[in-house]
Amino acid sequence: MLNAIYPGSFDPVTYGHLDIIERAAGVVDNLIIGVLTNSSKNPLFSVEERIQLLEKTTEEFPNVSVRHFEGLTVEFARQCDAKVMIRGLRAVTDFESEMQIAQTNHSIAPDIETMFFATSLPYSFLSSTIAKEVAFYGSDVSKLVPPVVEAAFGEKFVK
Ligand code: ADP
Repeated sequence: MLNAIYPGSFDPVTYGHLDIIERAAGVVDNLIIGVLTNSSKNPLFSVEERIQLLEKTTEEFPNVSVRHFEGLTVEFARQCDAKVMIRGLRAVTDFESEMQIAQTNHSIAPDIETMFFATSLPYSFLSSTIAKEVAFYGSDVSKLVPPVVEAAFGEKFVK
């Protein structure tokens, strides 16, 4: 059984993440999405909200589950009995930081591999930050995020 984790902030999940999730779930046996509490970021959605949105949008994939984690990603991988960590690459700008993270992880846990998925063209510009900005200014986010996330934006920005 090949278990893989897909770690990130997912604040909130976008169609870019879902594209990676669908493709990764097609090549591994179990995909565990790890929602990170990142103290250096100021999230719009709580960890519970981010998990709920991910669960709703991935319910059609039987081999995908969602968990919360804190601390080192490689430790989370070990807890999940995962040999592989999935990451997405959007553009050259992602490359340097992703390379740094992958090499650091490899040096502390050589038994765990990072697997990169190149973004699908329509999502190469898309990040959670972009989606939040578009939603904040009241523009149409229907091509960026699934309907449940669109509704969640509606609640956040009305309050
Ligand atoms: P982080 O906060 O660590 O950047 P994110 O939640 O934004 O995490 O993203 C998690 C992973 O998903 C990262 O590997 C990121 O590069 C990838 N990702 C995010 N958006 C896209 C996208 N539009 N296409 C491909 N990969 C993406």
